[in-house]
Amino acid sequence: MNKEIVVSGIRPTGVLHLGNYFGAMKNYVKMQDEYDCYFFVADWHSLTTHPDTKALKGSIKRVLAENIACGLDPEKVALYVQSDVPEIAELYLYLNMLAYKGELEKVPTFKDKVRLSPDNVNAGLLTYPVLMASDILIHRAKYVPVGKDQEQHLEMARNFAERFNHRYTELFPAPYAFNFKTALSKILSLDGNGKMSKSENAMGTLYLNDSDDAIIKKIKKAKTDAGPETPNSEKPEYIENLFTLMNLVSSKEVVDKFENDFNTCNIRYGDLKGQLAEDMVKFIAPIREKAAVIENDEVYLSKITKLGADKARARASETLQMVRKAMHMFN
Ligand code: ATP
Ligand code: MG
Repeated sequence: MNKEIVVSGIRPTGVLHLGNYFGAMKNYVKMQDEYDCYFFVADWHSLTTHPDTKALKGSIKRVLAENIACGLDPEKVALYVQSDVPEIAELYLYLNMLAYKGELEKVPTFKDKVRLSPDNVNAGLLTYPVLMASDILIHRAKYVPVGKDQEQHLEMARNFAERFNHRYTELFPAPYAFNFKTALSKILSLDGNGKMSKSENAMGTLYLNDSDDAIIKKIKKAKTDAGPETPNSEKPEYIENLFTLMNLVSSKEVVDKFENDFNTCNIRYGDLKGQLAEDMVKFIAPIREKAAVIENDEVYLSKITKLGADKARARASETLQMVRKAMHMFN
């Protein structure tokens, strides 16, 4: 039986962080055996907000290395660089004719980016969801493992797919965000402002290449308060986030102990942060060390990206032929 198709990408805009790991990469690794997976480094997407390309090559290598260090096997999946698959750009052109200015302007991530960089509101930024839809639809994918911040983009990808199917030929399956039947992840910044991110909130973001000291310092500074006054209270979002992180890297016994302390109003956030920092160092250090080795192995990286691009282009050109045929182009 044919395996179901999965696609997801990460922008080479900096060093990866815990949000990327838990929102995306952890699922990539879990999916690689059961699904036909296409994972890519989204270098075209990074141009929408990072026009200076001097650091781009290095960032691409870093993202590839971090994916592999986290357990992705480039022999099992297609691991490629977006710009190595030009078929995506042609599909992007066609889908742009099916996307409307009004709906693109309403996308919350677009509005955020406009607020952050009012001097660089380029057309690529506006049509980001169209390029993302092309990344997915070029492989006729069904599942897209992403964090919660991408949910709305997936809805738009479904709309574009449906419009294409309706106007031309039933060709694209509807793609859905995927997280093994649980809610999509959103790892908040440790300062409680927004999400962890490669390009924002540096002090509140735990990067996969942070030194042990940096990890400990950042967690120590994380936002807390005086603790709950009534038993079993609801946790404020920034406290919930510390528990989420603890759930990800600490043992069940440890989490249960602090949950119980919280529910009985005996929580000592200093202790919780100390334990979390210790477990986080144990989690991040091996990834950091592995990635540093892979990142410098140019021969290996160019071999696996070539392999990935070949696999991705085989599927992408098949889709593009179907698209052209459906649109009565070049036939
Ligand atoms: P940038 O700030 O440059 O946009 P980013 O950290 O948002 O970087 P992306 O490359 O845009 O990273 O996203 C890669 C993947 O990581 C996506 O699937 C996205 O949903 C997921 N992701 C990013 N940040 C988080 C987060 N804080 N929590 C959960 N998932 C996240
Ligand atoms: Mg992002």
